[in-house]
Amino acid sequence: MKADVVVIGGGIVGFATALQMKLTDPHAEVVIVEKDPTYAKAATGKGTGGIRQLFTRPENIALSQYTLDIVENWGDWAAVPGVSTPDLKWRSNGYLFIAGEKDVDILARNYETQRACGVDAEWIEPAELGRRYPEIRTDDLRGAVLSSRDGWLDPKAFFEGVQNRARHAGVTVLEDEVQGLIADSPKVTGVRLASGPVLTADAFVNTAGTWAPGLAAQLGMDLPVEPMRRHEHYAVASKPLDHLPFIKDIAGLAIHAHLGGVSVGLVDFDHPGGEEFTIDPEYYAKVVEPALAHRISGATDFREQRTWTGLYDQNRFDGNAIVGNWQGRYDNFYVAAGFSGHGFMHALGVGRAIAEHITTGKYLTIDLTPFGYQRVGDNAPYAEIGIR
Ligand SMILES: Cc1cc2nc3c(=O)[nH]c(=O)nc-3n(C[C@H](O)[C@H](O)[C@H](O)COP(=O)(O)OP(=O)(O)OC[C@H]3O[C@@H](n4cnc5c(N)ncnc54)[C@H](O)[C@@H]3O)c2cc1C
Repeated sequence: MKADVVVIGGGIVGFATALQMKLTDPHAEVVIVEKDPTYAKAATGKGTGGIRQLFTRPENIALSQYTLDIVENWGDWAAVPGVSTPDLKWRSNGYLFIAGEKDVDILARNYETQRACGVDAEWIEPAELGRRYPEIRTDDLRGAVLSSRDGWLDPKAFFEGVQNRARHAGVTVLEDEVQGLIADSPKVTGVRLASGPVLTADAFVNTAGTWAPGLAAQLGMDLPVEPMRRHEHYAVASKPLDHLPFIKDIAGLAIHAHLGGVSVGLVDFDHPGGEEFTIDPEYYAKVVEPALAHRISGATDFREQRTWTGLYDQNRFDGNAIVGNWQGRYDNFYVAAGFSGHGFMHALGVGRAIAEHITTGKYLTIDLTPFGYQRVGDNAPYAEIGIR
């Protein structure tokens, strides 16, 4: 079996990469190998669909801007003959980052970067914030940044739209598991499938999410990425909060309107890594609800309706994605993993960058060199500062 490009893992990052490869080179034979089409454990089925430009690193900002361009043009972008276009349920209420005394300087520095990168972000003093959003507690805040263009969508609809386009563009999807990588330095030559055959190609992209490190390790590549359990809760309150933006604070609390209530998460970055989906029955009541009630003090009676867990492919080195080929070792082996909670909003831009690199040997639109694996060996973290 022979392809031009094999994409290992068919979550949002894999499908986005395969689609972008076909858009870059329509003649390329692109095959996705996905072991579980039900996506039972994949992060792609569990996300909350937030898209924001409020990052520290210009590359992350540019990746989000690219996705926003697509979201705002979804009807045309996602149109596939004979297939109905999924409704994104796009909520452009904006993203609001908030900070107290300890973190306000970080917020201000990031705001300068964001403005310099063309984000139409607005600095809001606490008194003004309280006037606009009376439900938000502001007496312990020193500043806030609102990015009105940002928002959230139905991640399943977004994924379906990308899948539809990829299939229509001619991407082949194999339901199988990549068990082994076959390498003849300086090239990877093939992947061994669980069903038996070897699939050869000119380039390979490891988009296996939290399973990416296991595959990379077969080549001696040490990806500092591990699965990290992440709770998300849907709660209703004493009144609807539909008008609120997506609120994030530096402690990790994230709140956005959902089905008349709120969807809320508070990431526990100290939780030990592992493929763990159990729900801590006390986490909402003990940790999340107090933080939620504190911040949204204009509503009361937050009642948990549903809780689910998913896995972040957490990059423990610096919290940003690792993207690109393994230069100097296996030049045709690419990775896009370790998104640490940003994978949905960055998949299409990262996929385009990888497609460019496979076809031309360089990045043409967004230069993702700073996200390369090289930084791990150089011990040169390229982290977000403040809110991750
Ligand atoms: C609760 C939660 C909330 C989130 N909220 C947001 C958000 O608001 N915005 C945002 O941008 N991101 C968010 N994320 C992160 C986002 O969901 C992920 O970054 C993204 O889905 C990662 O996609 P992926 O394709 O890399 O990985 P996955 O979706 O995990 O896909 C990897 C795929 O590879 C397959 N695979 C693995 N090994 C093999 C193999 N050997 N052979 C074949 N197939 C294989 C797996 O079956 C899987 O389907 C959130 C995540 C969680 C858990």
